[in-house]
Amino acid sequence: MAVGSTVAPPDSPEVRRYNRIRRWLGIAELVLGLALLLVLLMTGWTNWLRDAAYVGGSVQSYSLALFLYVLMLLGISKILSLGLDYYSFHLEHRYQLSNQKARAWVWDEIKGFLVTVVLASVLIELLYFLIRQYSQLWWVLAWAGFLGVVVLLAQLAPVVLFPIFYKFEPLQDEELKLRLVRLGERAGTRVRGVYKWHLSEKSKKANAALTGLGNTRRIILADTLLANYSPDEIEAVLAHELGHHVHKHILKGIAIQAAVTFVGFAAANWVLHYAVERWHAFDTLHDFANLPLLILIFVVLSFLLMPGLNAFSRYNERQADRYAFENIGGVSPFISAMNKLAEQNLAERTPSRWVEWWFYSHPAIARRVAAAQNWAKANA
Ligand SMILES: [Zn+2]
Repeated sequence: MAVGSTVAPPDSPEVRRYNRIRRWLGIAELVLGLALLLVLLMTGWTNWLRDAAYVGGSVQSYSLALFLYVLMLLGISKILSLGLDYYSFHLEHRYQLSNQKARAWVWDEIKGFLVTVVLASVLIELLYFLIRQYSQLWWVLAWAGFLGVVVLLAQLAPVVLFPIFYKFEPLQDEELKLRLVRLGERAGTRVRGVYKWHLSEKSKKANAALTGLGNTRRIILADTLLANYSPDEIEAVLAHELGHHVHKHILKGIAIQAAVTFVGFAAANWVLHYAVERWHAFDTLHDFANLPLLILIFVVLSFLLMPGLNAFSRYNERQADRYAFENIGGVSPFISAMNKLAEQNLAERTPSRWVEWWFYSHPAIARRVAAAQNWAKANA
């Protein structure tokens, strides 16, 4: 497919197959999750689980029972999705994209499950505390609380969450550090840190990101990128990440999340009142057997909004790319970095239009390369 002025090299059947399988895995995970929620609600098994959480009345505390219910729900969902999780681990190996041993993968799964249990049970305990105390206004309070948690997690993620799964260390390369300082000075801004992300312990793919908020704001560069890309190419990637910083994309993302979750909590409140008062599916608003219903509302909402949220993300990515074009000597290191990334990560350069529209948080590589070439032509 010709994009812009140049013809992108066609994606190999191998690349197409890999990406198709990954997409189907994502869809299968979603369908499985939805099916679990619907089955729990329609068969009434959620009521059975709630009673089980009270262990025949031997658990007296609402909070403890709620915790046990959440634990059982997460456990069931993990057992159901374990097959798909293992398949994606296997898939990365089949396409020679992984460096991770099976034991390390199992350990990661355990850590991931424990982190989910801790975060989910704290959030859900707070949620039902609010529902219990404020049956009319709980959703506004929960929304405000949720927003606070999102901001806190965005700030803590680089120093608390990510290090659970990966090692990070401040970048030692003096030349690259100097280049970043110069990029920042030109932009009149400053990123506090650049960190080397030890991704190669697990993956052969390359990646980079802007993470954190305030004093944890940093750019992370995968060691797989640092090892294989020229200083000019790494500078192009740094400039792109700096573009996200300059255009305040993390903050804008949080603002969008705030709007989406406001609608989500409002819908949840309406559905919950309806389910209790009209439909008589639950005795009270704070009967936590209705948790699958609450989750269902958010899952459906985020699925419906996926194309919109991805379009927003692609817009931000184009903006960060443009920032890079404007702040590096010429676009050729950017283009060669993009091509290397596509090859290394088995990314599709030219996915079909609807696949890009629905699933892609970044513009297709062919489009990003064409944009760079067009920018260079217009600014020659
Ligand atoms: Zn980006």
